[in-house]
Amino acid sequence: MDPTSFVLFGATGDLAKRKIYPALYNLFIDHKLPESFSIIGLGRRTLSDEEFHKHVEQSLITFSRRSANDPSRLNAFLQAFRYRTLDVNHVEDYRKLLELVQRREKELNIRENRMFYLSVAPEFFGVIASNINESGLGSTDGWKRLIIEKPFGRDLESARYLNEQLSSSFEEHEIYRIDHYLGKPMIQNLEILESSNPILKALWSNHYIANVQITASETVGVEERAGYYDHAGAIRDMFQNHMLQILMMFSMQLPKKCDAHEVRFKKRKVMESLRLLQKEDISHHIVRGQYTAGEIEGKHVPGYTQEPGVAEFSTNDTFIAARLWIDDFFWSDVPFYIRTGKRMKEKSTRIVVEFKEPLGGSSDQTKARNLLVIDINPNEGIFIQLNRKDPLQDGKLEPIRIHYSDSEKNAPEAYETLIFDAIRGDSTFFVHWDEVELSWKWVQPILDAFEEDRIPLQAYPAGSNGPAASDQLLEADGYTWWLDS
Ligand code: NAD
Repeated sequence: MDPTSFVLFGATGDLAKRKIYPALYNLFIDHKLPESFSIIGLGRRTLSDEEFHKHVEQSLITFSRRSANDPSRLNAFLQAFRYRTLDVNHVEDYRKLLELVQRREKELNIRENRMFYLSVAPEFFGVIASNINESGLGSTDGWKRLIIEKPFGRDLESARYLNEQLSSSFEEHEIYRIDHYLGKPMIQNLEILESSNPILKALWSNHYIANVQITASETVGVEERAGYYDHAGAIRDMFQNHMLQILMMFSMQLPKKCDAHEVRFKKRKVMESLRLLQKEDISHHIVRGQYTAGEIEGKHVPGYTQEPGVAEFSTNDTFIAARLWIDDFFWSDVPFYIRTGKRMKEKSTRIVVEFKEPLGGSSDQTKARNLLVIDINPNEGIFIQLNRKDPLQDGKLEPIRIHYSDSEKNAPEAYETLIFDAIRGDSTFFVHWDEVELSWKWVQPILDAFEEDRIPLQAYPAGSNGPAASDQLLEADGYTWWLDS
């Protein structure tokens, strides 16, 4: 692996503490970092290198998957870290940063391979990219790469503007847009699941699949993020990015090989085939909800508009459900149902595939539907629902579930996998601009409909599975959300 300088903007922030340092440390323990590796943390706060080391150490003790108890390993890891105060708007600070980066490159004999990780608010992405360019930090005799976090814009127009800003300093192949769902083991497994299992491969089409349901439900409310969330809602926070990414990963046609070019091409094809919702139809296919007070795990929780930081009469969506159609050869006429929400009954990200009853099949009403269930988060697992005869019940049919669960394994976290890939220059599980643009294009009419109040805001009590209208969305097609308790 190439010796690398890792320059982290937002080094004193929450994401760095909870995800990025633990990911780097776990890679270090697993010998997956380059041997020569320099990490320079940047933030607004003034910190000495020693104070920064303490900060990183604390993050590892609290959040790392691997134990940070061995002082010699910990010190070897921390040695790579330096800290500088930097204001993202001051180009002079970047010139000083360049001196430090170059000094460390000399000390460690690193070719100028520079990874810039922007773990800061998105409004800074443009100015940072342009200052990297202007200060000379971006002129390297090795490679340069930019990792950025979501959100990428708040609508189609702002996403395009942001992309233009980044493109003036970085080329598309140098930009690594993180969607951490793409780093989850089960999401990375979807392609293999289909390609290496003839049973599934044979059934993976509209001949055998009745519908597909994708759910990402959270039990938490807005927590401390009301300032951001009250202007974003479930549609921007989850749907435009994570949910549509899961849809693409699930439904893309098998790539010839699992590399960045092929996978991204196939994902783009899905988005190009996604039927655009017509203005007059949107309210038939989209459910918009907001939680009211309720009970979760025996505890009373307030309604959304009573949460600190939320506007008293906010009409922001904390839940969205959608019916989508992919108009291609494999998926035409198979409805995809997607829902995501806060303060729901269960924390779970899951895909359920419901299989069709074959034409002329038995009309036995006691027969359960065949299901393939893929659990993505917090548990990873797969189960298949079949039918059998129960010998103790006069041969009555009973559903059986064949389970596989991955919860025992201490698998790498998404950030670990993704940072490792970025350092190796593998962008297979990062989001291409085409996907971002096509996702916003699809979502834009829904944002407009929300803005014009054309979709009623449905209340749902905290601790439920969302508004009744979400159930009715499926009932209208003769289906039901599976596994809702
Ligand atoms: P945060 O507010 O905790 O940290 C922000 C960081 O930016 C701090 O280090 C701060 O010093 C730095 N900063 C702020 N203004 C600056 C300035 N003018 N000059 C230099 N540095 C400045 O934010 P966070 O939660 O760590 O989020 C970082 C990014 O990651 C955001 O884009 C966010 O949307 C995204 N993100 C965060 C999470 C999460 O779980 N925290 C999840 C997904 C995406």
